[in-house]
Amino acid sequence: MMHLDSGYMITVLSGGTGTPKLLQGIKKIINPEELTVIVNTLENNYFSGVYVSADVDTVLYTLSDLINDKTWYGLKEDTFITHERLEELGFHETLRIGDKDRALKIQKTELLKEHSLREAVEIQKNALGIKSEVLPMSNQQCKVKIDTDKGLMDFHEFLIEDKSQAEVTDVIYGEVNPAEGVIEAIENSDHVIIGPSNPITSINPIIMMPGVKKELRKSYVTAVSPFIGKSAISGPANKFMKAKGYESNCYGVCQIYEDFLNHYIINNSDEKYKDIIKEIIPDVSTENIILKTMDDKINLAKKIINYF
Ligand code: GDP
Repeated sequence: MMHLDSGYMITVLSGGTGTPKLLQGIKKIINPEELTVIVNTLENNYFSGVYVSADVDTVLYTLSDLINDKTWYGLKEDTFITHERLEELGFHETLRIGDKDRALKIQKTELLKEHSLREAVEIQKNALGIKSEVLPMSNQQCKVKIDTDKGLMDFHEFLIEDKSQAEVTDVIYGEVNPAEGVIEAIENSDHVIIGPSNPITSINPIIMMPGVKKELRKSYVTAVSPFIGKSAISGPANKFMKAKGYESNCYGVCQIYEDFLNHYIINNSDEKYKDIIKEIIPDVSTENIILKTMDDKINLAKKIINYF
């Protein structure tokens, strides 16, 4: 395991699929105490009687090596006895929650009766033996709606029940305040990394919170594109980008970050976008950004960190 000099503090802004893949690589090359992850909470809500903070839990499972990295949701080798029993009883679960995963969610739900989300996550990360900081972006509940040709939908209604089939005309969410520690983590970082997450529903909710952009402008910030050509590697980012008036490609993504981004990494095959990106972002690199193997993840993590 290669470690950089200690004391080099990194903060990563994360959603629940693309960035956790990169975190697996970052985790291999820096000391855990040097890493803070600020995680999107836009989609948080109650399902089947438990509070689901999906992206936060995915980051917790990623950092404790428990993640099911086939689905990027829940624990590997979990069982679904409770889920199946609920279905037998005629209760349809919007989210298929595994048994061990449900335990974490029950604990969080109980903790939230007396603690903020930030405190609940701190207790859970310690229970999982995680030495890095994991900060939910906010303690406040976000209200998010997806406006479509089929009408206004809740986020999970669009993502799961509709399977992201509807034409998206807008993504609407209100402003929330950062949880304690979020601004300070960015302020105290040597390097902020915006992982390859959905720019509209994972990263923008973090950067539009009061005070965040101001700190990002003072930091050295690297972002990795979640797009290759005109398509996101997975998920509905294409539709969300278009609905918000951006081009659905790596150029559209960096327009969202142009206020504060120092270094942008796009895929080798997207070389053609380099010139136009250079007009708004100081440094652009092309790399392999498809994170399939552990080598892919470690190589990209090294490129990001060594470049600075
Ligand atoms: P969500 O919370 O599940 O929506 O997850 P994220 O926002 O963290 O991630 C979704 C984004 O990850 C999508 O826009 C994908 O294009 C991107 N993504 C998924 N896998 C990869 C990968 O291997 N490499 C890169 N660069 N992006 C990826």
